[in-house]
Amino acid sequence: MGQENRDDKGRGIYLTVKLKLDPASEEKRRIDRNIEGNRVVYNQMVTYCKLHLENEGRLPTQFDLNRLGAEIWRKNPSVKCIYNNSMHVTSGRVLQAYKKILEHNSKPDAGGAVSSGHRPRYKTVKAARSYGYPKRQDFGFSRKGKRRYIRLGKVGNVRFYGPEFPKGTPKTCIVSRIDMGTHSEYYASVTFEMPEGYATDELYPEIDTSQPVGIDLGISSVAVFSDGTVFENPKHYLKLRKRFEKLQRRLSKAVPFTEEYDKAKSRVDHAYRKLKNMRKNTVNHIAHDAVYLHGGIAMEDLSVKGLRGISRSRRMTNYYNDASLGAVQTRIRDVAACAHRKVVLVDPRGTSQICSACGAYVKKGLDVRIHHCPECGLRIDRDLNAAINILNRGWTGHPDPDRSNRPA
Ligand SMILES: [Zn+2]
Repeated sequence: MGQENRDDKGRGIYLTVKLKLDPASEEKRRIDRNIEGNRVVYNQMVTYCKLHLENEGRLPTQFDLNRLGAEIWRKNPSVKCIYNNSMHVTSGRVLQAYKKILEHNSKPDAGGAVSSGHRPRYKTVKAARSYGYPKRQDFGFSRKGKRRYIRLGKVGNVRFYGPEFPKGTPKTCIVSRIDMGTHSEYYASVTFEMPEGYATDELYPEIDTSQPVGIDLGISSVAVFSDGTVFENPKHYLKLRKRFEKLQRRLSKAVPFTEEYDKAKSRVDHAYRKLKNMRKNTVNHIAHDAVYLHGGIAMEDLSVKGLRGISRSRRMTNYYNDASLGAVQTRIRDVAACAHRKVVLVDPRGTSQICSACGAYVKKGLDVRIHHCPECGLRIDRDLNAAINILNRGWTGHPDPDRSNRPA
């Protein structure tokens, strides 16, 4: 749960809030029917697109698909229970999937041949997990005391839990279902369009945001800021390892298609969800502090995949995954775009070797944790030295015209 910040795509800023739904059994059935109905429509639209492509040499427009959807809706009693407008989201998905495949096929493969005649996969019952409400009037919110409800078309009022809403206009809503083995969980992702000039600076007026920060990303410490803040690797996996082993053992002993197996599967799913949430929490923490407590950010432009190559042992891989460096990098960029902060990516070469005070080249191996400069006598943590170098590279190399008080 929480907020997902999306950077602006030239149309203003969108914030997506994920709500945990608590539907009663009848509402669950209705949501399931909407997911299933939209799955049927999806598959029929895929077939229609394929025929249209073969006969006319081009894909139908979304308008054509929506008209087809309305016809299916009218004639097919099993589809009639779904919310009419939700098919507009489905038609968009079909076209997107088809365009992606055509794009992929137009590229010659290794043999030089261009394959054709492919279509997106038909959705199986298991693969169908969500459906959407494309318009503002398709859903709404209400409150009874402390209880909050979301009104979903053809479903009704469903109680939900989630963060307070941002001060924007709700635009679209996607309802999704996650299979947890013994039961399903339901979520709604509501996207808000934020007003013009939206900035989160005003949320933290007491914090001095005039100074930019340099960030060194790594595995033993996930992030070290040039102001001295250190985020250690939380080693989530190590903490949960015993639990995982126990649950996996139980699952491997269970016989599939029994109640016991479902239960064991559910426990494993829950444990992985927990791990995922813990990692996500760390990432959000780092990104939040990096963006909202500083005036700008300089980061290494590192190929994270290359980094992974270094960590060959399984133990290191788990530490690496716990660090989720790729996620940290993307998240910082997303949050920064939302808060109107500038992110500068710098060349990471030599940032750990060069002295941040005098610029001397002090060669040291990976295991040397302290930077000790023989030229000027500077003695600081190796990662902190790198973070200061990254800051200097990013913010003196590319001066930001908006900010006059950047450090020399
Ligand atoms: Zn020095």
